[in-house]
Amino acid sequence: RFEGITMAPPDPILGVSEAFRADTNDLKLNLGVGAYRTEELQPYVLNVVKKAENLMLERGENKEYLPIEGLAAFNNVTAQLLFGADNPVIQQGKVATVQGLSGTGSLRLAAALIERYFPGAKVLISSPTWGNHKNIFNDARVPWSEYRYYDPKTVGLDFNGMIDDIKAAPEGSFILLHGCAHNPTGIDPTLEQWEKIADVIQEKNHIPFFDVAYQGFASGSLDEDAASVRLFAARGMELLVAQSYSKNLGLYAERIGAINVVCSSSDAAARVKSQLKRIARPMYSNPPVHGARIVANIVGDPALFKEWKDEMELMAGRIKGVRQKLFNSLSAKDKSGKDWSFILKQIGMFSFTGLNKSQSDNMTNKWHVYMTKDGRISLAGLSLAKCEYLADAIIDSYHN
Ligand code: PMP
Repeated sequence: RFEGITMAPPDPILGVSEAFRADTNDLKLNLGVGAYRTEELQPYVLNVVKKAENLMLERGENKEYLPIEGLAAFNNVTAQLLFGADNPVIQQGKVATVQGLSGTGSLRLAAALIERYFPGAKVLISSPTWGNHKNIFNDARVPWSEYRYYDPKTVGLDFNGMIDDIKAAPEGSFILLHGCAHNPTGIDPTLEQWEKIADVIQEKNHIPFFDVAYQGFASGSLDEDAASVRLFAARGMELLVAQSYSKNLGLYAERIGAINVVCSSSDAAARVKSQLKRIARPMYSNPPVHGARIVANIVGDPALFKEWKDEMELMAGRIKGVRQKLFNSLSAKDKSGKDWSFILKQIGMFSFTGLNKSQSDNMTNKWHVYMTKDGRISLAGLSLAKCEYLADAIIDSYHN
């Protein structure tokens, strides 16, 4: 009876890692998935995470089920990190926070909430966006369409296109926004542009829906990277925010994140939270405890919290370093006069190179550089030592 099932296509991002593993060439470089590597291109477990885990062992923490909404200490600190502890939305209890299965699971919970309580409402996503956004809304049966975001001519933000498309969306749409370090382009609106985006969203009674997967990882500062979300919250707007600790704490496999819904009253927040729990219960019953305890222990302890911020700055700094070196190598090697400065203007883990599909294929087939077919490379998977090689590969692919 399973005979009729056809083969699913490989995932466009995780499928790149599968192809990388199968390549036996020593020069191979995996710039597909957004996972931080050391200069030696090894995975990195933060020292502060090891300390928090040791603390948990010493305390002899048990493995009892968590409540459906997750670990209370985690839910408190995650909302505080996002909005700032003294934010009125927190002080007034207007935020419904539920622990989710990292960023993806938190987005999926929100999508289910939208499907159930806003039937027919559309989600607007940026063009381009992280590939999994479309899968998430498709599987949750939430209709979506795209707003203009990336302008290939300027390799920058198509701000007017973005504003026009948000304006043109049916009233009461959900507008999905990347809180910082837009994936895949690395191009963020300025604070002035965020204000204008908030203006049109308010005018049209839309609901902003932030995906915050890189807080602290873009600038190195948790507060700076939350500025967009806080600017919207300060206007007293209702909004959704999905959070992930995959990148900023390196907790990829622990699946730790949260969905936050800012409501107009604490009453509404309590009701929304009860419904999020009702959605979570039949899906996975309750979330895993390990990552939640790590986050709660680190943020709850001033010394560990400081150590985390230092390590995050170190990671963000290493990425900025390879970004600069890649730019230098490209500028020095490329004799065509092409302006590579867009690489320096992009922020976060990724660089959107502008390489098209066949050029990206050349990167992989000829140079053993694995990347997504939209031209995105993860700088977190690049070392200073490999920048020259990568620059040669990019120049060869561009001009072929
Ligand atoms: N949103 C965006 C924009 C992302 O880039 C990612 C990670 N690649 C996520 C959400 C979620 O990742 P995770 O489920 O590992 O937290």
